[in-house]
Amino acid sequence: MPMKKAKEILKEVFGYSEFRPDQEAIISHIMSGKDTIVLMPTGGGKSVCFQIPALLKTSGVTLVVSPLISLMKDQVESIKSNGISAAYYNSSQTEKERYETIYKAEKGELKLLYMSPETILLALNSWLKGVQLNLVAIDEAHCVSMWGHDFRPEYTQLQEIRRIFPDIPFVALTATADKATRKEIEQKLGLTNPKTFLSSFDRPNIYLEVRGNVPKAEKLKEILSFIKSKKGESGIIYCLSRNETEDISAYLVNNGVRCAYYHAGLTADERNNIQEDFITDRMPVITATLAFGMGIDKSNVRWVIHANLPKNLEGYYQEIGRAGRDGIKAFTRLYYNMRDVKLLADFAQESQHKEVLLEKLNRMLQYAESQTCRRITLLSYFSESVFENCGNCDVCLNPPDYFDGTVIAQKALSAISRTNQSLTMSLLIQVLRGAQTYEVLQNGYHLIKTHGAGKEHSFEAWRHFITQLLNLGLIEIAYDLHFHLKITPFGSDVLFGKHAIFLTHFVAPKAKKQLQEKLHLAPEATPSDTLLFEELRQLRRTIAADKQVPPYIVFSDLTLREMAQMRPKNKTEFLDVSGVGKQKLENFGDDFLAAIAAFERKNR
Ligand code: ADP
Ligand code: ZN
Repeated sequence: MPMKKAKEILKEVFGYSEFRPDQEAIISHIMSGKDTIVLMPTGGGKSVCFQIPALLKTSGVTLVVSPLISLMKDQVESIKSNGISAAYYNSSQTEKERYETIYKAEKGELKLLYMSPETILLALNSWLKGVQLNLVAIDEAHCVSMWGHDFRPEYTQLQEIRRIFPDIPFVALTATADKATRKEIEQKLGLTNPKTFLSSFDRPNIYLEVRGNVPKAEKLKEILSFIKSKKGESGIIYCLSRNETEDISAYLVNNGVRCAYYHAGLTADERNNIQEDFITDRMPVITATLAFGMGIDKSNVRWVIHANLPKNLEGYYQEIGRAGRDGIKAFTRLYYNMRDVKLLADFAQESQHKEVLLEKLNRMLQYAESQTCRRITLLSYFSESVFENCGNCDVCLNPPDYFDGTVIAQKALSAISRTNQSLTMSLLIQVLRGAQTYEVLQNGYHLIKTHGAGKEHSFEAWRHFITQLLNLGLIEIAYDLHFHLKITPFGSDVLFGKHAIFLTHFVAPKAKKQLQEKLHLAPEATPSDTLLFEELRQLRRTIAADKQVPPYIVFSDLTLREMAQMRPKNKTEFLDVSGVGKQKLENFGDDFLAAIAAFERKNR
């Protein structure tokens, strides 16, 4: 019974008693020797999906492709802390270190070997050939996508591994994937009939908020008072420009906040130091350009603020996803104004992929202006249908007035359906409004029944409604097919009268009031830190500094919090705390048990 074994490993090695949704099915599929694609949000638990197979296989090494050297080091550190034999191999190491890794890999003494794609491509025709692989795990697999925000050309050459190891199964993992990217992953990695596991992208612990058109001085004040309310908890402020990271940082420092800025203009050493200070909880707040954070595996980032509009929803989702990876309540806020939009549109103009970039920017803006539950809007972008308002976003806390928009939706859906789903948004509106433009006549769209069925609404009003249909997940944009609108299964249900939907009224721009002004601050997301939690955190910091690893590699915030609540008295009880496996019990059990006992004596 190999799956029983998987669960034992989960408990003994990783310290968790239950699999999360999909993890077990994924592991079992990987073990059957077939190719697999795993789409799971950041913090969802992708790593155990290939780490447990690596442990279940009786011989050979699992090769893990990881794009960033800094990320690799942390991941290997974290695996080793659970008592698994793992190593990484890259250009930052000394010759001796690299030689040792090669030796261990060849002798099959490693369970997991992490490498960057560049080094793999170089080693593939030399020493790597002599290693007995049992599985290839490709992390951050969306890096194969040319349209994506993290495109890495070497990723498209990874098929070479398959040529040399034709019988070894592949598993591709990512936290960002719209439909087009998923297709690209399958094609560019040369996967054979892969099974795709799509976990929910929902991160319910993250509060979502958007504030539009806030004047700069006001924005700074709001950010300052927000950070003060967070009392030293870790957070990131993303900015569009280097100047802005420096400005905001200077303002915060002048007002007594411990904060550093991070951007590509700093030296590699400076950047490493700042990242290190952030990871080790020495520096709580970082203002950064969008590059910051990809190499960071920190689980206790409590909040993320975007000082400007991001380029697209994939990037936004990934950046807010850096908050609350431990599953505890986290807070995010997005500021945007029309200057950001203009600036980003100008950048996009210079790209070869201009149309795609502009369309994605447009979707980003639609999210920011959305009057539908933010979570529904965000998840529907990732093709996930959600029917219930989340109750943990600014729209849900301050809902606009809705009316039954089913008929409006049906008119639009029917026009899309009668034209074989080959309309862009603008052409759809022309058809609905009965326009006699060249494009309409050329395609014979003036002959279909829905031509002119929506005359009563202006072009702008239709844009407002259709945007909501997108945000609600009734239709989606096919970026790889000329931006045509496609009807989702949920959309069909609405078209055939199985579901009613609610829309907000269109308000002409002049009459539009500042909706955001009405929005109040979300209820305090600060966790109820107990005194004991603080003491355990202090102990964790001391141990981490001593072992020269980031604190969250010793134990996550969630584990410490549970420890503070459960107050284990002996080793058996200590093992019951989620996140404590055998190795960590052995390494840290005595210290933490002693600290808890001392605390109990003091506070009796
Ligand atoms: P991802 O790579 O998907 O961003 P990780 O693999 O780093 O996420 O996992 C995120 C956190 O969830 C880690 O602290 C991990 O140990 C924890 N985790 C993974 N699986 C489980 C589980 N079954 N139960 C509890 N925690 C888990
Ligand atoms: Zn909501």
